[in-house]
Amino acid sequence: MTYSDELKSRFQAAIMGNYGLPPVAISYGEGRHVTDVDGTTYLDMIGGIAVSSLGHDHPALVDAVSTQAARLAHTSNLYLHEKEIELAEKLLELARVEGKVFLCNSGTEANEAALKLVLLAGKDSGRTKIVAAENGFHGRTLGSLSITGKASIREPFEPLGRNVEFVPYGDVDALKAAVDDETAALFLEPVQGEAGIFTGAPGYLAAARELTATHGAALVVDEIQSGFGRTGDWFAHHAEGITPDVITVAKGMGGGLPIGAAIGTGAYAEALTPGTHGSTFGGNPIACASALAVIDTIEREHLLDNVTALGEHLDARLGGVAQITEARGKALWRGIALTGSYAADVVAKLAELGVLANAPRPDTIRIAPPLTITAPELDEFCDKLIAALDEVQPAPGGRP
Ligand SMILES: *Cc1c(COP(=O)(O)O)cnc(C)c1O
Repeated sequence: MTYSDELKSRFQAAIMGNYGLPPVAISYGEGRHVTDVDGTTYLDMIGGIAVSSLGHDHPALVDAVSTQAARLAHTSNLYLHEKEIELAEKLLELARVEGKVFLCNSGTEANEAALKLVLLAGKDSGRTKIVAAENGFHGRTLGSLSITGKASIREPFEPLGRNVEFVPYGDVDALKAAVDDETAALFLEPVQGEAGIFTGAPGYLAAARELTATHGAALVVDEIQSGFGRTGDWFAHHAEGITPDVITVAKGMGGGLPIGAAIGTGAYAEALTPGTHGSTFGGNPIACASALAVIDTIEREHLLDNVTALGEHLDARLGGVAQITEARGKALWRGIALTGSYAADVVAKLAELGVLANAPRPDTIRIAPPLTITAPELDEFCDKLIAALDEVQPAPGGRP
């Protein structure tokens, strides 16, 4: 097969137009590489948007998924299976909280569940107000969309019928003005991912924790993109030493299988009673087996140490590059900011050179590679990034 005009027109005829025509048609993956239908191999520096934690074709994930598929693929929530309990227990341990877990199939569903938890818990006191951050991203379904700060994706669907106040991200005074005794919850990403990898100043999450506690509101931390080792910690908020009331996870958790979770503590752990929420596929045995394999492999292969060490190497390699103003973020989850709005051209050039990345903003290249990436592979990325930058926007005076 080739990525022919015929394949492109079949895509456009059969698949709805929300994604646009993809630049590459992938056939299969191995390790940190994917190969397209024409046989060209790419270094995968985006990992299916921070999802492919173990890369492609990892034997631990393949074994776990195929063994579980052969044994039991689905139960629905009418019946218990042990893997869902094992996974929930493990999530609570990794999140370092006492509480309970609701399992679902995606990020947006995790936030839908979190919304239900905070609204149910706030019902007696009549709290309905939600505070969230401008430019934030919490998902595309109508509940999660209502708290998504990115106006361009929310506004076409307004009114969304929810009492939401948006505040500038990273601004403690704005939080102080917005969080009050009517507030059911404050939803925050510990690092804004889709916005382009922006971290609040040290103390921002701690201030959010203190304010919400003072007013009796929930602090919901959306770790869907930042969690599961992306920043070198199991969860990004661990670096700030805070304990949220609710944590939402998905993306990297399943290593490629669709799974998400809302982790609740205290009253939020107890908010759901029979009939208040559900998901036919939530906690599906195959997805649970995959998530357990991801957790086990991150621990066994010391992948948090791997991405932390390689993140330092990345900073050393990119530090003197003239076209790069900063590499926001931590470990290997980065928003590489450029001197101008030419990130899309650099991403296209990188694809020509055999590297996949994306541009969440016109001036920013995002990377979120598999946590299993090696130093030589990271060096290959740095070499090709510098080459792509020099072609798209030559460094003043050339490169020595
Ligand atoms: C991707 C993302 C979501 C939505 O996840 P889906 O699985 O696409 O529904 C929610 N919050 C954050 C922070 C994300 O990065």
